Amino acid sequence: MLVVMKNDATEAQVQAIIREIENMGYRGVPMPGAQRTAVCIIGNQGPVDDSRLLVLEGVKETIRVTKPYKLVSRETHPEARVITVGDIKIGGGKPVIMAGPCAVESEEQALTIANLVKKGGAQVFRGGAFKPRTSPYSFQGLGEEGLKILAKVRQETGLLIVTEATDHTNIELVEKYADIIQIGARNMHNYSLLRRAGHSSKPVLLKRSFAATIEELLMSAEYISSEGNNQVILCERGIRTFSDNTRNTLDLSAIPSIKESSPLPIIVDPSHAAGKRDYVIPLSRGAIAVGADGLLVEVHHDPLRALSDGMQSLYPEQFGELMKEINSLIK
Ligand code: PEP
Ligand code: MN
Repeated sequence: MLVVMKNDATEAQVQAIIREIENMGYRGVPMPGAQRTAVCIIGNQGPVDDSRLLVLEGVKETIRVTKPYKLVSRETHPEARVITVGDIKIGGGKPVIMAGPCAVESEEQALTIANLVKKGGAQVFRGGAFKPRTSPYSFQGLGEEGLKILAKVRQETGLLIVTEATDHTNIELVEKYADIIQIGARNMHNYSLLRRAGHSSKPVLLKRSFAATIEELLMSAEYISSEGNNQVILCERGIRTFSDNTRNTLDLSAIPSIKESSPLPIIVDPSHAAGKRDYVIPLSRGAIAVGADGLLVEVHHDPLRALSDGMQSLYPEQFGELMKEINSLIK
């Protein structure tokens, strides 16, 4: 439920509402708007009795929210959420391009690729230091050494850094080095990790699990927001279907669907969806055409020798071509 305050409601009246909501056993989250403040009630399992709230000073009305997620719902936040990281804005404007290798393999590798993607026009460098691999015998990432390399990439290129935290043992470290904390598809349902990310001051890039509905993705975003971090960027990266021509099936319909239900920005990762580098450019075109707020793309200067996901990593020339096409689409 949303408690909408009158235009001239005072801060003390808003605080009184929050106290009463807490007396009722829930939490009240104030959401200041251009005209008036609304207080969102969270923590209720069923319908809320609004009679105790409607009689309080400064209250205009209450609105029942029909979605199970509230803080990340269009019903409560009609305006697109714009997330500012460094000097870039994600959501509601020009698509933001995040590019780089699947994993940080060495300083030389990371800096080489970072300089190439920067030249192509990327604003954010991607690269995993902690890798969630299907096989325990595959390369698991360089850990903190990888994070230090990412810090060097930022220092030398000015690119912002997005990198993944895979569990509660490394999120504190990732948070220290990254500009955006990535939570991967496998961890979309890791609720303790989501809650911990909700305590961070850094934006979170939350990837859709390969078996999650849109509502489940938004409920995971709600976990992060309910702990106080509203800076969540969603990412569609392909879901598992009966179709086996690609690694996953890119669900482009998720973009307009999420835009209808939530104000959060949504970007697309065509690389993990396709699994094949030659499909990445056409899927990216589609993503931008349906309104994605950005792309997360794997690029490698020597993909045949990449320690992970070389098959789906673009050659630098292909990344240049992708950027040319994207720029002509958004003109
Ligand atoms: C990644 O982006 O490096 C990654 C592991 O992707 P996903 O979580 O979507 O599989
Ligand atoms: Mn990868």
